[in-house]
Amino acid sequence: MAIFEPRDQIRAMVGYHSAQVDVPIRLNTNESPFPPPAGWVKMLTDVAAGIDWNRYPDRAAVELRAVIAARHSVSPENVFVANGSNEVLQTILLTYGGHGRKVATFEPTYQMYAQIARVTGADVVVGERRADFTLDAHEIERLMQREAPSVTFLCNPNNPTGLVEPRENLEVLLEHATGVVVVDEAYAEFSDWSAMDLVSEDRALAVTRTFSKTLSMAALRVGYVVAPKWMIAQLEIAALPYHLDSFKQAATTAALGFTSEMEERVALIKSERSRIESTLSALDIEVWPSGSNFVLFRPRSRDAQAVWADLLAAGILVRDCSSWARLEGCLRVTVGTPDENKAFLAAMSSAVA
Ligand code: PMP
Repeated sequence: MAIFEPRDQIRAMVGYHSAQVDVPIRLNTNESPFPPPAGWVKMLTDVAAGIDWNRYPDRAAVELRAVIAARHSVSPENVFVANGSNEVLQTILLTYGGHGRKVATFEPTYQMYAQIARVTGADVVVGERRADFTLDAHEIERLMQREAPSVTFLCNPNNPTGLVEPRENLEVLLEHATGVVVVDEAYAEFSDWSAMDLVSEDRALAVTRTFSKTLSMAALRVGYVVAPKWMIAQLEIAALPYHLDSFKQAATTAALGFTSEMEERVALIKSERSRIESTLSALDIEVWPSGSNFVLFRPRSRDAQAVWADLLAAGILVRDCSSWARLEGCLRVTVGTPDENKAFLAAMSSAVA
């Protein structure tokens, strides 16, 4: 084998990405449709001017961790911050995954868990959801007992289904888990419950969050995890030194002064989500109830790819999930601005008429 060949795990994979087509209405990557507060954007010039650019960043990100910790009433030592929650997931898997270990997911779910786990050399073990994408607590128990994974992911609300996980399922998981349990709360602000209050020193539970969705800062790439102090200390060993640059630390700290402004938009997204759900349900379309900022749906009368192409022709990009395992015929739309949603719903009515 030529030495420039990648490792077996990498060769066996295809990348996870959504086509970034240049269209007027982009509803494919679950971003916030609103820009961040203008006051924060204006501050960034001063933030940049205040950086000691010749110096490495604060390696421990002390100030940023303190403001995030205050947000969740935990200690800064319970917080690890990285470049997007994907990097948080990667750090968790570098720490607890790897060769000879198992990483568990309940499918369908966010594809990066399996992807990153395999990159670290871990084996991925899969629990199955029901046909309606809900998760049977017995399946959780079965998977934990059969596989004894080192890491188990539960995405709440789940991506790409949008479904909110019943709290009892997490309780069953925590009771039977043999390793670290990661609850990915990338969309928690759009949902009605969070696992944050279950984080404690005597439980191997980690809860991840992102600034990319509710907080309108996908471009900045910031995410974090709240977990027991001993776990954070272990993650820090796996992370690269100075992985979080000075500008990002200061800009994110500044952004946390504007969170109420950003969170006010959650109510609008939720009401737009209801409008999308009810309008699509009135058409010949199967719709899953969402606790998130996107909606998964399956046109009954037409092929999903044909509907996707019709939407694209109308200048609207949604996520085509129809080729993903267990998601035959499904598309996923991110809730946009009221005008974007109006255009999407009008295009949908024509597409399935
Ligand atoms: N978790 C879930 C469930 C997601 O949907 C996403 C974004 N698609 C992420 C994590 C990663 O988000 P980011 O890296 O932007 O924080």
